[in-house]
Parts: sequence; C-alpha cells; structure tokens
Amino acid sequence: MENSKSMKEWLTNFGLEHPLVIAGPCSAETEEQVVGVAHQLKDTDTSVMRAGIWKPRTRPGNFEGVGAIGLGWLQRAKEETGLMIATEVANANHVDLALKADIDVLWIGARSTVSPFIVQEIAEALKGTDKIVLVKNPVNPDLPLWLGAVERLNQANIKKLGVIHRGFSTYEKTKFRNNPEWQIAIDLQTEFPDLPLILDPSHIAGNRELIFDVCQTALDLNYDGIMVETHPQPDAAWSDAKQQITPNRLEEITKDLRIRKASLNQAEYVNKLNALRTKIDVIDQQLLESLGKRMGIAQEIGQLKKENNVAILQSKRWNTILENMIEKAKVHDLSEDFILKFLKAIHEESIKHQNQIINKKVK
Ligand code: PEP
Ligand code: MN
Repeated sequence: MENSKSMKEWLTNFGLEHPLVIAGPCSAETEEQVVGVAHQLKDTDTSVMRAGIWKPRTRPGNFEGVGAIGLGWLQRAKEETGLMIATEVANANHVDLALKADIDVLWIGARSTVSPFIVQEIAEALKGTDKIVLVKNPVNPDLPLWLGAVERLNQANIKKLGVIHRGFSTYEKTKFRNNPEWQIAIDLQTEFPDLPLILDPSHIAGNRELIFDVCQTALDLNYDGIMVETHPQPDAAWSDAKQQITPNRLEEITKDLRIRKASLNQAEYVNKLNALRTKIDVIDQQLLESLGKRMGIAQEIGQLKKENNVAILQSKRWNTILENMIEKAKVHDLSEDFILKFLKAIHEESIKHQNQIINKKVK
C-alpha cells in the first residue's frame, strides 16, 4: 500500500500528537460558547477543536446548527488559542465555505458516508486540498461503504486522510447508542494499515459514563486518536447533551487512559509478545502430548476392565480424582470451576476411548 504509507505519516509529520485528541462541542451554539470552550481546551491534551455548524439531524425539529456564521467563531477560537479547528462538511457548498474559512480539519459525517453520490461530490470539492480530511464510518455496519468513501477521497488526491470510528446503529437497544462492532474498524485497519484511525467514543457511548472504557479499548487496539464531544455545560447542550463531557472531565480521562507506546518501542513490544506467544505454543504442544499419553493409558485400563468384565465408570475413583485435583489446582491459582470443566472434558474423552476398546467386536 504505497499510497497509504504517507497518509499516516501526516499525523506526526504535521507535528500532531499521537494519539491525537480532538475535542469540542457537538454543535457550535454561540460565539461565547465556542471561544470559551476553546480557552478551556487549550490547557488539556487537545490539539484540534471540533464544533459542528451544519448538523445532520435524523429527524426535523431539532437544532440543525448555526450555519456559516459559526466559521468565524471557529476562526476566532483558533486565533486566540492556537488550536486547530474542525467541522463537519456534508456537501460541496460546505466544503467551499470551510476551505475559504481556512478550517484545518474537515470531517464527513456518518449520514454522508452512506451516500456514494454525496461522498463523490465532497471528494471533488476537496480535490487536491492539503487540509486534513476524516471520514466517519457509515451509520450501517457496512465495511465496503466505508472503504469506498476512503477510495473516493484517495482518488481526489487527499494527502492527509484519516478515518473516524463512531459506531453503527442498531434497531434493538443496547447499552451503546451506536454499537462499536470493533471488528469492522479492525478490518478497515487491515485494508489501510497506514491510515490514521480515530475513535469517536461520544457517538458510540451516547452517555458520558461509558466514554472512558470505550476510549481505553480503542487505545488497546492501537487507535491513533480520539474525538470527544466536550461542552462547557454538557447538560445544557443544544444537541447530544447526554454524551458530552466538560473539558475538566476530558483532562481526567486522558490522564487515566493507558496509552500505547509510540512506534519506537513497538519493535521491543512485538519481540516480547512473540517470545511469550512462543512459550504458550510450547506449553500447548506439551498439553496435547500429555493428553494423548493420558488417553493411551485410559485405553490400557479399558483393556484391563474388559478382560475382567468390569464397568467403565467407577464413580468412587472419579470423585477422588476430582477432589484431589481441585485441591492441587488451588496452588496454581486455577479456579474450581475451570478445573471441573477441564477434567470433565478429559473424562468424557477418556470414557469414549475405553468404550471403543470394551465394545470392540472381536472378529
Ligand atoms: C457529530 O460528530 O456531531 C455527528 C453528527 O456525528 P455522526 O456523523 O457520527 O453522527
Ligand atoms: Mn454529536
């Protein structure tokens, strides 16, 4: 993937932190709110401030964004704080206005990624830009649709391209607003390994309590950043109130997250991991050999029982084995529950082997 190689590099080449933190309100509401939250965010790990000005709402009647006037508010936030600024674009007109306003990061929302026409229109309006473009996953769990959007932007020669994982809608209610379906993002990462992958925990969680855990999972999966909806007064937000957090809470979260080491230590980590995995493989091999030997002995017992016309199952003996092993397992920190299941499985297999011997027809 020669082409995508340079893509992930933009993140670090551009002097951006890894993992990248994008934060800011779901929607720009007033100039004071946008500029105020920018000042609060500049003292956190945030590099890029987000705020939606054109809001794609699923149903009419909700706040649909302040529109182009918000671009000026974002510019002021940038001038006063030095933060980069980001907003969502959903058609060619939005792109033109955002580029004219020198917005640093333009993202394509989940409701736009589902439409190849819209993505194509946006890609053409963005052609050759050196701004950062991030593509959210489509609302439905459809990897090719997400990949297709990435490909359209690649064709438009967008150099600084990345993706945002914001979860997928489901009809049934789960604890998430949008189901993460981690495997889809992992599959996308496999297809485009050098494309920066950013998590949007806010739209996955739908409530502020889950944000930390979702972020941690993403960092454990080697994501390159997070985009978190952050509002000075979350409960009073004009959109997505339940999932927004204060800049203070964001700071606590980023402090507590265990962040994966950057690529320099990656080689050492991979080496250590491989060494440990090899040890596991060796032990698994020994387990197989021991189990094989054990079954061989069980067959000998079967032969002996057959010759003496004795029943296969000797419950007393079996209970003694169980009691003994449960006691011994404690020393190795193995739970009773696990040992019971493990021995039962072995015993069943053992009886099968004995059965074969005892019931073998003599020809
Ligand atoms: C948003 O980021 O505020 C937004 C509308 O997100 P999504 O496109 O993921 O629903
Ligand atoms: Mn939102």
